[in-house]
Amino acid sequence: MKLTFLGAADTVTGSKYLLQCNGLTILIDCGLYQGVKKLRSRNWQSFPIEVKKLDAVILTHAHIDHSGYLPALMKQGYEGPVYASKGTSQLCQILLPDAGYLQEEEANFANKHKYSRHHPAKPLYTEQHARQVLKQFKPMTQNQFHSIKSNREHNQLGCRFMFTPVGHILGACAVHIDDGHKRLVFSGDIGRYDDPIMHNPDAIEHADVMVVESTYGDRRHQQLDTQQALADIINETVNRGGTVLIPSFAVGRAQLLLYHIKQLLKEHRIPTIPVYLNSPMAISATDLYKKFNRQLKLSQQDCAEIDNITRYVRTQEESIRLNESTYPAIIISASGMASGGRVIHHMKNILPNHRNSLVFAGYQAAGTRGQAIVDGAKETKIHGQTFQVKAQVHNIGSLSAHGDYAEIIHWLGLIKQRPQQVYITHGESCAADCMRLKVERAFHCNVRVPELNETVTI
Ligand SMILES: [Zn+2]
Repeated sequence: MKLTFLGAADTVTGSKYLLQCNGLTILIDCGLYQGVKKLRSRNWQSFPIEVKKLDAVILTHAHIDHSGYLPALMKQGYEGPVYASKGTSQLCQILLPDAGYLQEEEANFANKHKYSRHHPAKPLYTEQHARQVLKQFKPMTQNQFHSIKSNREHNQLGCRFMFTPVGHILGACAVHIDDGHKRLVFSGDIGRYDDPIMHNPDAIEHADVMVVESTYGDRRHQQLDTQQALADIINETVNRGGTVLIPSFAVGRAQLLLYHIKQLLKEHRIPTIPVYLNSPMAISATDLYKKFNRQLKLSQQDCAEIDNITRYVRTQEESIRLNESTYPAIIISASGMASGGRVIHHMKNILPNHRNSLVFAGYQAAGTRGQAIVDGAKETKIHGQTFQVKAQVHNIGSLSAHGDYAEIIHWLGLIKQRPQQVYITHGESCAADCMRLKVERAFHCNVRVPELNETVTI
């Protein structure tokens, strides 16, 4: 096998791995670069090989940094299958059209305000393109091998692949590739142990070579009682007469927050105040979490209790009306790094008042508004206007959907037939290098942090 690292090298976004295996050309993950402009500009480079030569795309999970380049790939001529778990396929039906819509909006906005260097500014792809690529999805079962054969050459051996759940978000899986000689496993994004909603990552039986993520390769999560931390913040804020605003990722985090808050309300650990979920995408994702609850730790009763405490804010009018209320409330709204979405409209209202709290709930990427505020920025610019940060700012690190290095080392330690070679990706350079040292020390195998576009033989 030959593996080329086309993304998520030196950074956490843009996951794409090109694999040549028994005459097949397969792309594992097809992610969009996100974050600073220098990274996003890579989304506009043409795909390094003729896309018609690709036999298949296999997704680890639905997050846009792992799936969001698919419509662009289709635009360049990819017509083949996109294999994904059932949960991932369903989530992509929400996430990809939204990504297309956002890009159209951004291009329209840039044209209206004439701030783009390109005239006219164009979206990378549209909502329509995203809807089109969804037709290429092939939802697959987990925990069993499926074979891929080439459409072009009928004599070759092909290879087999399998999904095993990793507890990161609904449908998130490691991808195992077997060419008959070697077993290559892509971790995708690895979840946490003892999460209230997600099951622990499944232990892997056998890997000769692994590609492992390192988002938290240099950090441990705060060992704190998440529910108690949330309760303290909510109680203090309500006592001040303020509102708690939580910028949240729409998939996974929003549902976890709702779960914690409904527990706190049930146990009377916080006063009864309105809880708003203000994000159409988070509402759709919550519906999917309820639909797939048997794959998760959520009982039917949990789902009903979440519905009972949550006011789902669907329309823009309702969203605007929320800003007029002066009564204490909890508002969960996307995006999680406060880089866009409805949450930034609430921030204009919440930030200048010391009574309110702004609570971040997970990883804040370099260059995002979320990271700047968590790092203590005294003001922030939203839609060209400067806002003072007077609200109390919190970051509950334990709410992450990514395992920290200790959890990943634990997960790797459970592999029965351990890999001789591990490649560390999906981390900022410090995190990836720390992870490399930790894996080396723990398992005495070859560990490398690959360069972008590097090809290795397996
Ligand atoms: Zn992810």
